[in-house]
Amino acid sequence: MREWVIDLHVHTILSPCASDEMVPPRVLHRIKQLGIDVIAITDHNSAENVAAFMAKGREMGIGVLPGMEVQTREDIHMVCLFDTLEQVLAWQNIVYGHLPDRKNKKDSFGEQWVVDSEGNKVSEVERLLLMGTDLTLEEVVNGVHHLGGLCIAAHIDRKAFSLWGNLGFIPEDLPIDGVELTPHLPRNQTQLNQLIKRGFYYLISSDAHWLDGLFPPQCFAAMDSCNTKALRSALLKKDGCYIRTIR
Ligand SMILES: [Zn+2]
Ligand SMILES: [Zn+2]
Repeated sequence: MREWVIDLHVHTILSPCASDEMVPPRVLHRIKQLGIDVIAITDHNSAENVAAFMAKGREMGIGVLPGMEVQTREDIHMVCLFDTLEQVLAWQNIVYGHLPDRKNKKDSFGEQWVVDSEGNKVSEVERLLLMGTDLTLEEVVNGVHHLGGLCIAAHIDRKAFSLWGNLGFIPEDLPIDGVELTPHLPRNQTQLNQLIKRGFYYLISSDAHWLDGLFPPQCFAAMDSCNTKALRSALLKKDGCYIRTIR
């Protein structure tokens, strides 16, 4: 058992709102400098850069979990985490089937680049990724679970695209595996009490869209190995596993 330094919400050059510097060598070099052990790649409604980051991560000795940030029908962001590339690509297939087929307007939304493990631009995703799917919250959580993944409610303390922001509460019967708080806001004791009452131990993730958005260690997970099964135990504070955050 050891404490892993984790940042389970990082965007790449594929997300239209992310900067061009978010390519595997530059992101993972910064992650190494910061002393982070494991990141998750979570672009909006797509996982097309996960393979490149996993490959570079293996080369550099940094854990890269395959993931995605899905926008539900309710315009709520959910971080979906898996163990294998096959799982996340199967999930991408489902998400693409529920994403309105609209062409990206690069001038308004930004470019959506697929890169190789060295950060060379390979192709552009033509369909717009930054929009809501027609999958409900329940469908996203159940779909991710069906494939063996974890579903975390993203930046729930932010006003936009979040459970608290959009609904005002965490539905009792929604079987999410955990919640994430943003590093950009002060902690609110009333909100923290709600989490304690529900038994949630929150993650803090950078949600970085550019290199300077990656922060020094702020979230740690005590586990034997870093995979979704162990993370589930840590989020439930089970079997000696736990999540620790700096605030
Ligand atoms: Zn988000
Ligand atoms: Zn995000």
